[in-house]
Amino acid sequence: RPTPEPVEDWIYEIGTSFRPDMRVPVRIFADDVLIQQIQRDRSLRQLVNVSTLPGIVDAALGMPDMHEGYGFPVGGVAATRLPDGVISPGGIGFDINCGVRLLVSELEEDDIRPVLEKLIHEVSRSVPAGFGRSSRKLSLNRRQLDHLLNDGVPYLVEELHLGVSEDVHFLESGGAMPGAKSTQVSERAKQRGHDQLGTLGGGNHFVEIQLVDQVFDDDAAAQLGLFPGKITVLVHTGSRGLGHQVCTDYVKRMDAVMTRHGIHVPDRQLACAPFSSQAGQEYFAAMGAAANYGFANRQVIAHHMRRIFEEFLGESRGALRLIYDVAHNTAKVERYGDDELVVHRKGATRAFGPSSREIPPAYQGLGQPVFIPGSMGTASYVLLGTDEARDISLASCCHGAGRAMSRTQSKHEVRGADLRHELEDEGIAIECTSNVELAEEAPTAYKDVDRVVDVVHEAGMARKVARLRPIAVLKG
Ligand code: 5GP
Ligand code: MN
Ligand code: MN
Repeated sequence: RPTPEPVEDWIYEIGTSFRPDMRVPVRIFADDVLIQQIQRDRSLRQLVNVSTLPGIVDAALGMPDMHEGYGFPVGGVAATRLPDGVISPGGIGFDINCGVRLLVSELEEDDIRPVLEKLIHEVSRSVPAGFGRSSRKLSLNRRQLDHLLNDGVPYLVEELHLGVSEDVHFLESGGAMPGAKSTQVSERAKQRGHDQLGTLGGGNHFVEIQLVDQVFDDDAAAQLGLFPGKITVLVHTGSRGLGHQVCTDYVKRMDAVMTRHGIHVPDRQLACAPFSSQAGQEYFAAMGAAANYGFANRQVIAHHMRRIFEEFLGESRGALRLIYDVAHNTAKVERYGDDELVVHRKGATRAFGPSSREIPPAYQGLGQPVFIPGSMGTASYVLLGTDEARDISLASCCHGAGRAMSRTQSKHEVRGADLRHELEDEGIAIECTSNVELAEEAPTAYKDVDRVVDVVHEAGMARKVARLRPIAVLKG
């Protein structure tokens, strides 16, 4: 049983002496309470397994929101050295480019309260939610879908006029992943994706209307356009059935070619291939295409939110400005000193600092915005990446509060109808078709987001800027 030892404030490690197949240590960012919670599931053992991957450098990293996932834990970061280090679909996850996007308005709570219930109901009519749901209004033909997979959000904005041209400057990777190729995405994946653009997906995904509850850094918050009391919109979804199918296809493919490359992994869910191999390159191209779909999905939902806000609150008063859109399930090629690395972030957010040249010019000198959702009943956070995070955590930080309890357990402990009333009593309007799914998503099913965010702040991986509080939520 792996036991993490405290080595520095906020840092725990499992050394390579724990198991002979480990290539690097396991390093977890946590405090004494979170490290206990993390030890309740198999996530630490999973991270030990990750530390055996060919080409892995530094350490297999666990974020404070870490919990068990497919092969890799959710809240895991692993970098391998190019050209021959491996890429593993399980290290990105099934929901390729699941991520979050934050928009801000000039409105305050008093402006929106009178129309809030009607407004969130209209959101539920415009944004289909639930696992298999498709979009009635927006169906792409094959040519359009291929275009979107190759070129991402700029295509949506320029050709389909979904959003404003300024938006593309405020998306991670400009909403178009380098190397994305629709030709590496299977027919089955495209079939699953053609009518799901602008849909939310299952219960953990959401559209949330919030207000800025607390500001920790006035200057930084002002530069992002965040002021106390202002209304924000946070969108959390990913690449739907298309991304899921891409992951499924390539896990199978890599499982079949792994031994040919002389790779042996302690868990088949870690199926992988050298980045430079054909399977590695093709997966990377398909993953990029699916990631473009994820960015586009959030773009379409944001477009609906703008339309609805303008309809209910007037064209200028209801305006929503995009602050940023960040992915939390991707692999990216990044340079660290002389090394070119492929950085897997699964349930982890890139957190580039102020001196990065890869963040929007408007944020250079400030840092990349990082969004950490908590739950439908607690806070969410806005942070900024730091330059130090490159050395501390491969320029990464957490992506949420992280599950403290499984869906099954939460469903047994919480009654959805009661939870709905409790949230409504707190002034949070809820749209969710199923009380069971609502119970699975109870705030008590997640770790304490304030604690998780304090760890990343104190450890220097990102710094706190503002806290947001929900007033209306559409759950997937
Ligand atoms: P994941 O990407 O792992 O599904 O979820 C990311 C994080 O979103 C979770 O760890 C959880 O803390 C947070 N989360 C889940 N549901 C909600 C919600 O309805 N509202 C907010 N603000 N956060 C949520
Ligand atoms: Mn997701
Ligand atoms: Mn997610």
